[in-house]
Amino acid sequence: MNDLCHRPIIVAGPCSAESLEQMTLVATRLAQIPSITMIRCGVWKPRTRPGGFEGMGETALRWIQQLKQQMPSLRFCCEVAIPSHVDLAMRYGIDALWIGARTTGDPFSVHELAQALRGTPLPVMVKNAPSPDVGLWQGAIERLLQMDVTQVIAVHRGFTAFGENPLRNTPLWEVPIELKRRIPTLTMLCDPSHMAGHRDKVAQLSSAALALGFDGLMVECHPDPDHALTDAQQQLSLPDMERLADSVVMRIHNADKADLLLHDLRMQIDSVDNQLLHLLAQRMAISTDIATIKRNNNISVLQSSRWEQLLSNRMEQGLQIGLSQPFIKDIFEKIHSESVRIQLEKNAIPQRPEQA
Ligand code: PEP
Ligand code: MN
Repeated sequence: MNDLCHRPIIVAGPCSAESLEQMTLVATRLAQIPSITMIRCGVWKPRTRPGGFEGMGETALRWIQQLKQQMPSLRFCCEVAIPSHVDLAMRYGIDALWIGARTTGDPFSVHELAQALRGTPLPVMVKNAPSPDVGLWQGAIERLLQMDVTQVIAVHRGFTAFGENPLRNTPLWEVPIELKRRIPTLTMLCDPSHMAGHRDKVAQLSSAALALGFDGLMVECHPDPDHALTDAQQQLSLPDMERLADSVVMRIHNADKADLLLHDLRMQIDSVDNQLLHLLAQRMAISTDIATIKRNNNISVLQSSRWEQLLSNRMEQGLQIGLSQPFIKDIFEKIHSESVRIQLEKNAIPQRPEQA
């Protein structure tokens, strides 16, 4: 498994830890995918309405502990909503935690969690609250930072919208973009599963997130998604999870290569622009000398025949080396007008102070 310093970060696993058998299938499969950073699983499930599966709690933590003993390279994370979750998860050796959307929306709960997490070296992921309130998300992150939690990561999982919508949670990408503007050093993941609500849309949302510069993904997957106890529609099968992880790695690898090439070309542009600026300064210095000669010899600043000849000459020269004529015309008109301005300034008759 790669670590949290490596891009892309891919956190993958079931919505809920349901049985030791399910978790063993997930762990053995994901352990074979080198780009997977960490396995996620819900241990305590926050249900919008009562009556659903609420998670296996401490029993699931025991499975995680057992799997970590069998496969020591594996890392696991789970959601925590109250301080006793933090204590228990840590007691069983969890590697990272996340605060779910419903909890982030409540500053009192976040404050209590932050106190329970004080000084932890473990990564803590903070999902956005269900409402598109950047301040609330930022506030939850700040509450953790204030308690010396050093590895805080934001997870964008979309926002609740009323009525029928193509996605379960609307992305409103401008919200995480604003969060990143406010905290530029923040590592940001996207959770395309809770955004999509359906597995068919997970790959497309993942691509969108990576194109926008997210550092990685948190994706739900399950050995038998259709029979999952929670979020059955949106969980990927394990082979689909592997395909998604491979495509993400390929994409980031290509983007990193393109970044290097761009960096090189941008350095070349900087150097050419620097030369252009020096040449322009040199040209204007010559104009100043010309202005002195014109003034001392009573020659007018504007010599229109010389200017017309110069412009047609430059346009012809430019054309020969592949530059468009309107472009050359624009540039030389600008250069000429600056040169005229300098010459007029030089030629200006000094005003005598008004006689009192
Ligand atoms: C989850 O990750 O399983 C979950 C409950 O997500 P969210 O808090 O984003 O709704
Ligand atoms: Mn879920």
